[in-house]
Amino acid sequence: MHSGILRIIKVLKITQMKNMKCSEMGGPCDAVCSANTWEEMTAEGMKHLEEAHPEMAAQIKAMSPEEMAKWEAENKPKFDALPDAQ
Ligand SMILES: [Zn+2]
Repeated sequence: MHSGILRIIKVLKITQMKNMKCSEMGGPCDAVCSANTWEEMTAEGMKHLEEAHPEMAAQIKAMSPEEMAKWEAENKPKFDALPDAQ
């Protein structure tokens, strides 16, 4: 009984996740970040940049709010258009 419910919760959790490659967010490699929301995805992407491409992370942190808005306008639609990971 309980294991069945847990299985459904697990499936729901997985189907809500979306995957985006570093390269799809403007990065230089194909590492995959997974998140439920765009906010989580940007946080995951930033974490990856800090670990793998610290010079890029520094550039992004130096971006003006206008540049950030432009980046988001270019990349958020890609996230929204992604199918949920199966
Ligand atoms: Zn990368």
